[in-house]
Amino acid sequence: MQVYVFRTADVAGVALELTGRGFTLVPEQHGAGPAHFSTQIGKALVEIYPATGDRPCDRCAGNVSEDRPATVCRKCLEDLLRLPKEPDMARVLACAREIIARVDRHGVSSDAIAEKIDEVLFSRRDVWAAAHMGLITEEEAATVLLAHLATLLQNACGTTFHSEATESADVLAMRHALFGD
Ligand SMILES: [Zn+2]
Repeated sequence: MQVYVFRTADVAGVALELTGRGFTLVPEQHGAGPAHFSTQIGKALVEIYPATGDRPCDRCAGNVSEDRPATVCRKCLEDLLRLPKEPDMARVLACAREIIARVDRHGVSSDAIAEKIDEVLFSRRDVWAAAHMGLITEEEAATVLLAHLATLLQNACGTTFHSEATESADVLAMRHALFGD
């Protein structure tokens, strides 16, 4: 899980502000470390820590890695707070299964499809966050997800659902499933 750290001289003030905006903040203190707050946004954890002065922003610098917490500036904190919590996963899975069902006896379980969707959207590729930060378009997000599902099928049964005739309708359907109509 990606951890983002926002440091501020006014932890209590920021915590109050976020609570007022509907976020659930959990007070935390690890050992003798400073008291701080954390909140879960989608699959990321955002922590509000006390500090004075400005720190360089890892996210602005493109320095974000799941292996370590990333410092964020105020603007990046706002971006994160705007992330929708999650797409309607049941709808995304149903859409994927409908497209995949075009291939007879593909032998790929619903669980395997769901796992691949989760991986592409939230883990390895983080397509969900990229789309909501405007790094890729909604159409590109849907296209990337479908490409990974096509590869999953290709590897499982040697054939896939992809064809030029259905591609644009598939991308549109997946885009709606991911981002709503
Ligand atoms: Zn930043």
